[in-house]
Amino acid sequence: MRFTFVPDFYFETFDKADARFLNENGIKYLVLDIDNTLEPYENELPGDGVLAWFAELAANGIKAAFVSNNGRERVERFNSGLGLPMYYKARKPLSKTVRRAMRDMGATAEETALMGDQVFTDVWAARNSGIRAILVPPIKDKRDPFTRFKRLLERPVLKKYMKNKDRGGQG
Ligand SMILES: [Mg+2]
Repeated sequence: MRFTFVPDFYFETFDKADARFLNENGIKYLVLDIDNTLEPYENELPGDGVLAWFAELAANGIKAAFVSNNGRERVERFNSGLGLPMYYKARKPLSKTVRRAMRDMGATAEETALMGDQVFTDVWAARNSGIRAILVPPIKDKRDPFTRFKRLLERPVLKKYMKNKDRGGQG
């Protein structure tokens, strides 16, 4: 796989990556970011939409694990009703924790995708781990100058994705 920050898939929201899409693309394992991918920072617990999506995944035999750069308290609380494998302080884009989550799930690289909202954290972590990347826009973006600068850097990446998609290609 040629190195690129362009994600393999881009969706407006996490739940557009539904069981049907995942099945069709041979994705049986998901490594999931939490913050601004599934819920904004201030939501301690998964909402109904997230719970319904996890129920659909489980019903279709798709396994998931949380791999978050956030701390233990946040991840444990968010996962309290779900009981998924979870990894905090993951230091994405480094691959170590992503690979550990895959190992613990018994996942192969071919059957795994990482979903997140950050190109230079999540897509990069997927690339470093040799797995596919599903990007969603941040649910509630921060407005500080650093975040805005990052968004500016991400723009060509998204443009390239849309261009490739129009051609019927990927990545
Ligand atoms: Mg995030």
